[in-house]
Amino acid sequence: MDLKRKIVFITGASAGIGAATALAFAAEGARLLLAARRAGKLAEVASRALELGAAGVHSVHLDVCHRIAVQRTIDELPEEWAQIDVLVNNAGLSRGLDKLYTGKVDDWEEMIDTNVKGLLYITRSVVPGMVVRGRGHVVNLGSTAGDLAYPNGAVYCGSKAAVRLINDGLRQDLLGTPVRVTSIEPGMVETDFSLVRFRGDAERAAKVYKGVTPLAAKDVAEAILWAVKQPDHVNIARVVLTSVHQANSLLFHREP
Ligand code: NAP
Repeated sequence: MDLKRKIVFITGASAGIGAATALAFAAEGARLLLAARRAGKLAEVASRALELGAAGVHSVHLDVCHRIAVQRTIDELPEEWAQIDVLVNNAGLSRGLDKLYTGKVDDWEEMIDTNVKGLLYITRSVVPGMVVRGRGHVVNLGSTAGDLAYPNGAVYCGSKAAVRLINDGLRQDLLGTPVRVTSIEPGMVETDFSLVRFRGDAERAAKVYKGVTPLAAKDVAEAILWAVKQPDHVNIARVVLTSVHQANSLLFHREP
């Protein structure tokens, strides 16, 4: 697929994997529709994307958890940005690392609202247009955590298991249309993910990566780009990728 001037919509584009994905598509000459809550960070990504060759950038300040705002944002896109070719459902987070039976219900709500319901709202708003236009590709950010739960992470892992099955269900529902559906499932990636999980506790976040060479956000962006660049008749269903220091969501090799 030639991505020049194609419209690529990336949620959670202000940081981490979403920002790296924006830059990877920028280098292909795509037009980028970027969404997140932090407008300042989004503006930094937008200006870097233009330097790298994006054919245009349109940023929207959006919380994917707000169903009405999601629908309004998509409905009110300027005409020249409305025909989305690629949707990367990336916005997501983890909150806390607690035993399920003592966990914080507010943390659960935020993870499920963002990782599951937010992804559904965006998908519901964008995919009908893809079906009508007879072209499109939806890329969902799952995780190795969606395959195998780890202790104290049941709700985050459950949210990513939901993404995996929503991804499979959507692919079945789109059968007979040319719209493609891909789940990208990374292991540990060094981003702000742990900082967000531990609500800004940088020392605790750094320990997550101690002794491990994790994936970089760019590695995941390259996998997304690869799946999208396949010929139109090829649908990459799932990509599972980890660093060589990780076998699955439970098993790591850590250098002393
Ligand atoms: P990150 O650096 O913290 O970035 C998360 C992005 O999601 C930010 O741009 C954030 O933007 C956005 N976001 C969060 N809540 C949002 C909301 N309600 N509305 C709109 N945007 C929202 O984390 P990351 O590692 O890049 O994570 C990206 C995705 O990869 C997530 O789905 C995550 O579950 C998945 N993943 C991460 C890892 C990992 O180890 N890092 C592994 C597997 C999968 P704002 O705060 O500006 O809104």
